[in-house]
Amino acid sequence: MTDPLLAPGATIGVLGGGQLGAMFAAAARRLGYRVAVWDPDADAPAHRLAECSITKPFADTAAAAEFARQVQAVTFEWENVPSDLCARLEQERPVRPSSSVLRIIQDRIEQKTFLQRQGLAVPRFSIITSPQQLGRDEALGLPLICKTARSGYDGKGQWMVTGTAELTQARAAMQEGAQPGMRWIAEELLRFEREVSVLVVRGVDGAIRTYPLVDNVHEAGILRRTTVPADVSSGVADHATDLAARAVTALKGIGVFCVELFVMADGRVLINEVAPRPHNSGHYTLDACTVSQFEQQVRVLCGLPLGEVRLLSPAVMINLIGSEIDAVSGKGNLFEVPGAAVHFYGKRTVRPRRKMGHVTFLADSTGEAAARADAFCAILR
Ligand code: ADP
Ligand code: MG
Repeated sequence: MTDPLLAPGATIGVLGGGQLGAMFAAAARRLGYRVAVWDPDADAPAHRLAECSITKPFADTAAAAEFARQVQAVTFEWENVPSDLCARLEQERPVRPSSSVLRIIQDRIEQKTFLQRQGLAVPRFSIITSPQQLGRDEALGLPLICKTARSGYDGKGQWMVTGTAELTQARAAMQEGAQPGMRWIAEELLRFEREVSVLVVRGVDGAIRTYPLVDNVHEAGILRRTTVPADVSSGVADHATDLAARAVTALKGIGVFCVELFVMADGRVLINEVAPRPHNSGHYTLDACTVSQFEQQVRVLCGLPLGEVRLLSPAVMINLIGSEIDAVSGKGNLFEVPGAAVHFYGKRTVRPRRKMGHVTFLADSTGEAAARADAFCAILR
């Protein structure tokens, strides 16, 4: 596809209508674009911000043709949308990132193999094709973490194995969910010092913008807290940022990417995974940066110049997960906290482990932002 600049007024499409799709739609509308949202779930938050909504299954080819007619360019809000659908849409419209990048990223084995071949550091891993194979790779040993190669997110489809009892449990759980041809990846379980991530924006012309390195804390596989900027040496920050940019460049990725990395006590940095889209750990950019990750997604998609990345304030972001939303949404107190930017996603059904909203605490220092975040977390518990 050749690449005309899409001026405001054009209709742009997003596959997936969760909170990431909704924040993309909000950014697009602010710039004067119309948005078409395709999500089979009629209740998905982004539908409320859409000019056109499609709720047909992603496999519906007539709906794909209709969507391609409605929109002038397509992006997606997460990596588990069908790459075949993206490939089909790509024949008629620019899709960013492309279906070929999506194909690599969708499969943890393909992704890690790709990164490793590029000479980029990743945890040691082995490919698992049957549950009984888990734990048999002497070179990998224990402890390990096993993940389904495809469709996992927020720690779903993952088993931590430190001893033989867990190994038996993991094999049984894998067997239970097994389908023909299914694969898993086993990785060395790293005792990292911290988890960090960095947003990389890459335009059609290969121009790159990176956001500051952020520090992430996960609980049970789900992001709990992001702190920006991360408290690491400039050497580590530069190295991590360089790795992330090299990964996206190697992929020839066009769009917004988030690269998750592990920082080891000895200063080594390894890539955990690459997300081909804005990321939960980048939500702070909505309130703490000149141009948010979602606006960058719009800009890249439409061929506009990439936005200047400028951090306006240190920040700490806290996710509202499951019923935590009930502890705050009916009460006004949160709205009185100075520097607190509140985001509720408006999901109708509260489910355990479901991301329901987030709050970004802005302050003059990360210490002060963290103190406000801590006081807030005490209320959540
Ligand atoms: P997801 O797609 O669910 O985000 P990740 O691979 O990022 O999957 O794993 C979720 C979390 O599990 C990570 O953020 C990290 O805390 C932990 N984790 C994943 N892989 C490893 C590893 N090799 N060693 C240690 N912890 C890991
Ligand atoms: Mg992850």
